[in-house]
Amino acid sequence: MDLRRLILALTIASALISLANTYYASFQVQRQQLIENTLESNHAYATKLAASTEDFLAGVQQQLRISAAAITANFQTKNILKIETERLRLQTDSFNSVVVINQDAKVLATSPETLQLKGQTLETLGAVEAVKSKKPLISQPYVSAVGNLLIFISHPIFLDSGEYVGAIGGTIYLKQASILNHLLGKHYYNDGSYIYVVDKNQRIIYHPEINRVGKVVTNNLVINTLAEQGSGKKQITNSQGIEMLAGYATVPTTGWGVVAQRPKSATLAALDSLMAKVVSKILPIALLSLLIIWWCAKLISKPLRQLADSANAMDKPETEQNIQKVKSWYFESSELKRVMLVGINILHKSINKLKDDVQTDPLTGLCNRRGMELALSLWKTVKTPFSAVTIDIDFFKRINDTYGHDVGDLVLQQLAQHMRDVSRADDVICRVGGEEFLMLLPKTNSQTAAQVAERLRSQVESSIFDYAGKITISIGVANWPDSSNEISVVLKAADQMLYKAKRCGRNRVEVFLSDHVTHDVDTLINKDSPTK
Ligand code: GH3
Ligand code: MG
Ligand code: MG
Repeated sequence: MDLRRLILALTIASALISLANTYYASFQVQRQQLIENTLESNHAYATKLAASTEDFLAGVQQQLRISAAAITANFQTKNILKIETERLRLQTDSFNSVVVINQDAKVLATSPETLQLKGQTLETLGAVEAVKSKKPLISQPYVSAVGNLLIFISHPIFLDSGEYVGAIGGTIYLKQASILNHLLGKHYYNDGSYIYVVDKNQRIIYHPEINRVGKVVTNNLVINTLAEQGSGKKQITNSQGIEMLAGYATVPTTGWGVVAQRPKSATLAALDSLMAKVVSKILPIALLSLLIIWWCAKLISKPLRQLADSANAMDKPETEQNIQKVKSWYFESSELKRVMLVGINILHKSINKLKDDVQTDPLTGLCNRRGMELALSLWKTVKTPFSAVTIDIDFFKRINDTYGHDVGDLVLQQLAQHMRDVSRADDVICRVGGEEFLMLLPKTNSQTAAQVAERLRSQVESSIFDYAGKITISIGVANWPDSSNEISVVLKAADQMLYKAKRCGRNRVEVFLSDHVTHDVDTLINKDSPTK
């Protein structure tokens, strides 16, 4: 993994984590907010409806009081009672029916007359309570004489003398269209929100599902708390197992509880689109910042990458120029660049030093032993692998003896030229002893070195040396670090190969291989094409 990928991975990971965190946090906050808002607005709505109901009840009681006052003087005149009940029912739509009863709960007049109650004595809860208490009353819900579930709102009638003569009362049907239904049910929603009303005894007196009106509810948490607290808000699960956000309030005069509730799921449905909006706002900036991160990672890693590439090729002549070109725009990279330039200068100076006279053999112009040591220590430092090729002239003593020392020297000079011919510019050729040579071939494996050695051997074999005629050479090859990690051991191995070549009849190349098996060059280079 390189620096650019590392920076990218780190920053993208941290960006994603913080994005996810932002998303989650805003999801939680929005969710809580939505729930809070719904609870609050349901509470406000229930409170408002309770207040409206209270106002409505006060209003109808006032109507009854005025009617009671109006008929006191003519209580015995049946026709006037009839007209008053009719007016009261039709004028405001407040009541489904209106009735005047005497002190024994006997019906004196009704509207509408279709009820056919006139002359009957009512035994219903409302009527009995009304004549018994002789006070303005709002009854609990009950089933009327003709079978309607209703509430009865009444006002007593007293003569001027103070004598109690009966009551005027109106009914509101709970299961049919009535002003109460209208008041409570006119607001409806499509999302499952609804309101319902219970009386003091936890009997439902208004519900959007008409068949639930009249039922007593005992296991509802809101209805139970309503009785204790009167007003508030709560998260509950309703009788159908649906989670609801409920607000509730009490109508003071009657103790009725008004509950406004909305399914939690309907409230949270808004969350999806809300979060989609959050994401759509976050995403472009997030993508843009990822792009910037990618670009910055590239910018930061680029000089280090270039310097690292150059570090692998410190011995190449173009490397210094490449390092110069690196745009090291921040401190660390510019320090690295500076140090590498210093290093490469030292390296080049050392290489140049190799060519100094001190390291040159005067007879052949090749490197001497010092030059060889310098080259080896350099390559060891910069870890340049190389092959060592040791060369020794066969029966050289004889040439000296036969043609004289000067001819011997000439042979040495010409052999040096042959070695230059077969080598590359980077190769270091040394005269390490009287008629012993060492060729150091950087970045060359044993096999290639063996090919070079073989080329040299055959070139020498087929050449005519001045005054001396034909000569041959024996060669040993080893490689660093393939043959050994120790350079001195590698040189010894090359020497051993040379002795082996001598032992095996001279004029040949022997190669030390990494698996510690020595090879005749024929087997190594090409078995099919004979080299000698
Ligand atoms: P071998 O095949 O075993 O190598 O036989 P050889 O005769 O070459 O034996 P050896 O390598 O031991 O011979 C070394 C000889 O090289 C000894 C010496 O006369 C000769 N010699 C060493 N230095 C020089 C030199 O500078 N000039 C000349 N002309 N001869 C040298
Ligand atoms: Mg020799
Ligand atoms: Mg020798």
